[in-house]
Amino acid sequence: MSESDEKLAIEAVHPQLFIGGEWRDAEGGKTFGVEDPSNGSILVEVADASVGDGKDAMDAAVGAQKEWAATPPRDRGEILRRAFELITERTDELAMIMTLEMGKPLKESKAEIAYGSEFFRWFSEEAVRIAGRYSVAPNGATRLLTMKQPVGPVLMITPWNFPLAMGTRKIGPAIAAGCTMVVKPAALTPLTMLWLGAVLAEAGLPKGVLNIVTTTATGEVMEPIVRDPRLRKLTFTGSTEVGRRLVEQSAEGLLRVSMELGGNAPFLVFDDADLDKAVDGAMLAKMRNIGEACTAANRFIVHESVAEEFGRRFAERMAALSVGRGTDDGIDVGPLVEAKQRDKVAELVDDAVAKGAKVVTGGSAPEGEGYYYSPTVLVDVPLDARMSKEEVFGPVAPIFTFTEEADALAMANDTEFGLVAYAFTQDYARVIRVYEGLETGMVGINQGVVSNPAAPFGGVKSSGFGREGGAEGIEEYLETKYVGLAL
Ligand code: NAP
Repeated sequence: MSESDEKLAIEAVHPQLFIGGEWRDAEGGKTFGVEDPSNGSILVEVADASVGDGKDAMDAAVGAQKEWAATPPRDRGEILRRAFELITERTDELAMIMTLEMGKPLKESKAEIAYGSEFFRWFSEEAVRIAGRYSVAPNGATRLLTMKQPVGPVLMITPWNFPLAMGTRKIGPAIAAGCTMVVKPAALTPLTMLWLGAVLAEAGLPKGVLNIVTTTATGEVMEPIVRDPRLRKLTFTGSTEVGRRLVEQSAEGLLRVSMELGGNAPFLVFDDADLDKAVDGAMLAKMRNIGEACTAANRFIVHESVAEEFGRRFAERMAALSVGRGTDDGIDVGPLVEAKQRDKVAELVDDAVAKGAKVVTGGSAPEGEGYYYSPTVLVDVPLDARMSKEEVFGPVAPIFTFTEEADALAMANDTEFGLVAYAFTQDYARVIRVYEGLETGMVGINQGVVSNPAAPFGGVKSSGFGREGGAEGIEEYLETKYVGLAL
């Protein structure tokens, strides 16, 4: 990719706030720089919203709600479908923007675009399937009617790791259901969402339905919106720590809340596993998005009889990955999103090694500019290593071993998180015992990726509550109204 492709992609983004269908500067013309994590340079300055700008976005969402809720479902579906097509046509441009602001290789950005845009196609089909129920009361005296109505204005706060998909997973069902929204993308990666705002406007989304606020004064600008009595729902994807704070704030307005929080996924390999499949699955579960995924396998829990062979083959594959700037051809692993993230990964590896873990491959950050960390496999990782409890969020695979199936399950569940787990085994009865025994919202059996727009994504325990995608996804944006009809 040439420098001019990069420049053109950045120029395709409006670096302003999108409020009431208009692009405008932040109060006082304030801006902040978006960094390229491969070299630390500033790609572009983006509007840095104030509390007043946030309120304007909320006013716009509230103002558009009534009319938008009355729009024919087919029209809402067609807007989503057109947006899906526009994103698909412009994949190369968007992939470049995403790679520049986030660091991941172009092929990972394209994979996210295929996944993220699919939420628009999926929910374009769901928009026309919102239905209620009609029944006769048990005593026969009345009729019971239930109907679905949009929840109302929604605040959406999204993280940097999947700047498109974490947004479309919320925006798609909200549009389908007839909700208006204020969206706040992560300050590290706002460009993808700004690009998407323009595409949705082009697809025919009426003014005020989607409003985008970019800011570095995040808590200060978000809290008044969360506490605004006109807001009806808060949906958040991000860290458990911030999620907890937002749940507290949302109690005041008794908001409908969806929380997609952190993970600490176990990846179980039993002695009867097909090791070819397990190694392929491990590469996907660990290295999708360079390990910067809430679904990333964080703990490899491998039966002692296959641990040596699994570890060796997995490490060979990890060592063969090419590390470099995400825009270059043939790159598998780009830089992590920021220096802080790279330093946290290094700190967790150093902690494990200091406690006795052995490095099979990687184990350090390469010299030079950019926030790179080498793909790493660690064995003999002790259970008191911090990474057995904390999310690594980088290309690091710690391998733990077990002897009995019950111990493997106990180790897998020994975490405050409960988002996803993976298990590799060919024993049918064990498959059932394992997926029933895992305390997670999702389980991948003999596969290293579970994310699918047609399936309900979400966690239990400190990984949050609520589901995104599937038939369940739109329910988060609908209220059920019951009408009793006397004869
Ligand atoms: P984060 O620090 O919690 O940030 C997420 C979003 O919350 C960002 O937009 C951030 O804005 C905003 N935020 C921060 N402080 C806030 C406050 N006081 N009030 C309101 N909003 C606030 O998380 P992250 O580091 O971006 O993302 C990584 C985390 O997300 C990981 O833990 C990962 O597991 C989780 N995640 C979960 C899922 C899932 O579906 N379960 C999916 C992807 C990621 P700023 O950018 O301005 O700080």
